[in-house]
Amino acid sequence: MSASVQTAPAPSDSVGVDAETLSLAIESLHDFVAKQLPDSRQLELDHEDVCPEDLVRAMCGEELGLQLLFIPEQYGGMGGGAVDVYRLCEQLARIDIGLATSVLATFLGSDPIFVGATAEQKAKWLTRIAEEGILFAYGATEPEAGSDLGALRTTATPMAEDGAVVGYRISGRKQWISNGGIADAYTILARTPGGPSWFVLERGAEGFTTAKPEDKHGIRLSNTAALYLDDVFVPVENLVGGVEGQGLVQAQQVFGYTRLMVAAFGLGGGWSALDRAIGYSTTRVQAGTPLSQKQGYVHKLIVPHLVRLEAGRAMIEETGARIDAGEGADGALNTEGAIAKYLATEAGNAAAEAAIQAHGGYGYTREFLVEKIKRDVRITTIYEGTSEIMEMTIARDRWQQHLKTSGRYYRDLALQLRGLHAAQPDVGAATAALAGEALAALLEACRVGRLTRNQHVLLRLGELVAYAEGAGSLAKRAAAAAEGTLHPKADTRFGPAELAAISRVFARDAALRVAEDGLRWVRGASTSDLSGLAPSLHLDEIHAAQAGLLADMDAIASAVYQAFR
Ligand SMILES: Cc1cc2nc3c(=O)[nH]c(=O)nc-3n(C[C@H](O)[C@H](O)[C@H](O)COP(=O)(O)OP(=O)(O)OC[C@H]3O[C@@H](n4cnc5c(N)ncnc54)[C@H](O)[C@@H]3O)c2cc1C
Repeated sequence: MSASVQTAPAPSDSVGVDAETLSLAIESLHDFVAKQLPDSRQLELDHEDVCPEDLVRAMCGEELGLQLLFIPEQYGGMGGGAVDVYRLCEQLARIDIGLATSVLATFLGSDPIFVGATAEQKAKWLTRIAEEGILFAYGATEPEAGSDLGALRTTATPMAEDGAVVGYRISGRKQWISNGGIADAYTILARTPGGPSWFVLERGAEGFTTAKPEDKHGIRLSNTAALYLDDVFVPVENLVGGVEGQGLVQAQQVFGYTRLMVAAFGLGGGWSALDRAIGYSTTRVQAGTPLSQKQGYVHKLIVPHLVRLEAGRAMIEETGARIDAGEGADGALNTEGAIAKYLATEAGNAAAEAAIQAHGGYGYTREFLVEKIKRDVRITTIYEGTSEIMEMTIARDRWQQHLKTSGRYYRDLALQLRGLHAAQPDVGAATAALAGEALAALLEACRVGRLTRNQHVLLRLGELVAYAEGAGSLAKRAAAAAEGTLHPKADTRFGPAELAAISRVFARDAALRVAEDGLRWVRGASTSDLSGLAPSLHLDEIHAAQAGLLADMDAIASAVYQAFR
């Protein structure tokens, strides 16, 4: 397959719920939360380290019914698609990432059922989530098995009667499980004689206990607890899919989708913090004028962060649309999901950090909430695969693509972007193309010098790939906005001219990063003469493309503050 930005589907809202239903769901969520969870209650719950189980159940039950968006219509849900889920997750995270995590946990917990269960199992469990609003938890991580799930130690021993397996006895411990202390049902990954397998376990099973909630840095409104399994019996019909050994494959199959959800948490958390900083900067006067009128402040603490967040959004939205178009089967878009997660969560984390700085001393206190958001959004670079695991996942896959296509993968991407530039010269596509060309040259230097044997080089390539592909995705999104072909359920906060400026700023950053950081690591790892590499990176062109950067940043700032005039 060629580079991912080539194959975006025609936007359609025919998959999932219609645009109006989605808007209504988001509106109901905000109305519900305005009543039930004002800032003062959030701060109190965060301070007291309490998960508001009543709220979680109301949100995932009859009162609000958020779970319905995740469940297919045949099981009583609304059959939301990936784009619907991203839009909802972003809004949830804008409110509180801890609450969002509780909702996510039911979705994650039921994932192995979605992808691997028998028809009877799906009918039983997915219907119960839709109709009864039962909460799920996803039990994969163990004290010794985090990023490397293959190291899991929990065992499921078959129990036979008259020569037939009637059930399993599960023993082990699960660590850091969201909803661990409050869920009604759990999917548990355990080692069977046939290999790792998922089981559904109900609360109250004999031998199953949960630890007290963890005292966490952030997402303190989310219950996170260890699970203890001491010879717990589960009937054979609770072995997901009825066949042993499918567990790790099933866990992999859904990453493209679930990582988009966490990516949307990074996006929502980052924007929530940044919007607070934007509002604050219009009222805080220093040296005679509001902070919002100080270019050095806005161009350091606001504009670069919103640009990075919007690059994350472009990747999320594009990947979501491709999943909805049917491209994501068997984990085919896992790398795109990883890029989206990496870009959006790192951007969200950096934006929240900048939002504290933007508030000065007030940002360092609890009252202004940005301090809480910063602690909350931090988790998004850790769970559902850490940023380093994302870098590795992205780099390994794209390295293979580079080899398989004899180096054409990113040259093709650059060609497509040059085509886009011909049609839409203002969206930064030519600069994004420079990032693609530089990446192709770097990957080739790594191949010739066998440099990816250095894990550091491989992981840094993962970062550079994410920037280059993010730039391509954002340029395409800006072009779609200019042509009036954005996804019908797309976020429309920024108009076409603003998106074009945002895209140009990100493309400049991406190209510079790819060429200069890439050159640094390749030269740093190599012992050969690499004098031919620098010219093939087109550094002069990339430097020349920085012209107009400040004017674009001024235009973006002006768009952001327009609402306050
Ligand atoms: C609040 C919270 C909620 C969670 N909810 C759930 C849940 O509901 N269900 C669930 O199953 N799990 C859950 N987790 C677990 C989460 O997914 C893991 O914490 C995460 O995958 C990382 O695993 P680890 O903590 O064991 O860290 P480790 O894997 O030990 O990683 C430690 C550090 O080493 C790096 N690292 C790891 N491997 C490599 C490598 N090969 N090369 C280079 N660097 C590497 C990592 O990036 C990280 O920086 C949750 C965790 C938290 C904190």
